[in-house]
Amino acid sequence: MREFNLPLFMKVKPGAVKELKENLSLYFPEITGKKVLVLTTEGLLQRLDKKVTVLLSQLEEYEVVSVEASSYDYAVTAAKKTSMDGIRMIIGFGGGTALDTAKYAAFVANVPYIAVPTALSNDGVCSPVSVLFSKGNRMHAFTSKTPDGLLIDTDIIMNSPRLLLEAGVGDIISNYTALYDWELDCRLNHGQPNDFAYMLSERALNALLYSNIKSFTSQEGVKMLAQSLVLGGIAMQIAGSSRPCSGSDHLFCRALDELFDHGLPHGIAVGIGTIGAAWLQKRDYRMLIDFLKDYGIDINPKRRGITEVMFVRAWLFARDVGKDRYTILDNMEMMPRRMKEEVFKELYALMCKI
Ligand SMILES: [Zn+2]
Repeated sequence: MREFNLPLFMKVKPGAVKELKENLSLYFPEITGKKVLVLTTEGLLQRLDKKVTVLLSQLEEYEVVSVEASSYDYAVTAAKKTSMDGIRMIIGFGGGTALDTAKYAAFVANVPYIAVPTALSNDGVCSPVSVLFSKGNRMHAFTSKTPDGLLIDTDIIMNSPRLLLEAGVGDIISNYTALYDWELDCRLNHGQPNDFAYMLSERALNALLYSNIKSFTSQEGVKMLAQSLVLGGIAMQIAGSSRPCSGSDHLFCRALDELFDHGLPHGIAVGIGTIGAAWLQKRDYRMLIDFLKDYGIDINPKRRGITEVMFVRAWLFARDVGKDRYTILDNMEMMPRRMKEEVFKELYALMCKI
């Protein structure tokens, strides 16, 4: 039986950073008084100086290091430092750059890892994967570990850039199309989706989909977003792959990342890919569009800077970036390229009317 680890604690509330010491004493008494490495990014130390002060005041011995780049090499260097300097725990404070680096460094150095996210832009916050730059300056997903504890301070999240919160929602709606692709794969390849992973991913999606609070300015709205993203991460952990939350929706995003320097956050590109994937799957994509509209999230590719050429090329390339997993895109394999181009052009025109 596969083993998986769940975080020992998860606090989602205003002022959650104040609860570090209490939770460390309770769950990691052996760390008390030992050296802790805090990985963050430079801008945050200034922007959130009060929160940083509160966090650090609860630690006895610590070192704060600003992550220069979320690269594999940098994360391994941080892991080496952890082992050589007798550091017993790593805390990641920040967005993806700090958290993915901290997560991987803790995994390599085999020390507990606490995540204190300052944005909720994707489901990586609690996933067992670190997305880091590696060879050829390309992003690569490395097997990593889920956090051993999570402090999600909703005061911090509510003040994070709106675009990142929108991206968080975009990453969650992909569960809708990812689960369909996963089932499709299983049906054709005689497998079966893991029931619990499937259920958690579905719950993460439905919690937002059927909620009356579609808001980034209420504590409750931010809390729900956080919980859904964490549930998605746990679903991936249980499944032992990203399948519960990543299908053709994510393949579109990966293709776009590989082909173009588009500058969109992951969750926004995934959101665009999800509407496309739902349309290709002949499912209720309008329901998703209405849902995003309730949040005030613009998913029109043209307004997001994606031209028709970029859009069509990314969809044509999407299957090639994820050949290992069967998705709705494989159903189009027999179709001549010209015909596929027409399909994606039609989809672009449709999405530009949103
Ligand atoms: Zn994602």
